[in-house]
Amino acid sequence: MRLTFDKVPGSCNLHRCKICGKHVTHIRNHYHVHYPGRFECPLCRATYTRSDNLRTHFKFKHSAESEKNADTKDHANAQLQLAATAHNDTMNTLS
Ligand SMILES: [Zn+2]
Ligand SMILES: [Zn+2]
Repeated sequence: MRLTFDKVPGSCNLHRCKICGKHVTHIRNHYHVHYPGRFECPLCRATYTRSDNLRTHFKFKHSAESEKNADTKDHANAQLQLAATAHNDTMNTLS
């Protein structure tokens, strides 16, 4: 699949995607939007071929921003609870 872009008149670095009509500044980043099997970070548009790679990226790069995202926040809370449970188990074993 090959994407084509139209230059947006009056703008030096804005392009219009001929597939979805979206105005984009970074053609290479937008390229991945139309590739199935690619996982794109909604915050920084980084793309990964595997969803778990994207999840790892999201967790480490956007831990602060993830507060705004309910799904991610729930996920983070679940992780925290897991950690707390593990800690309690350790404490119980010790005592
Ligand atoms: Zn597009
Ligand atoms: Zn990102």
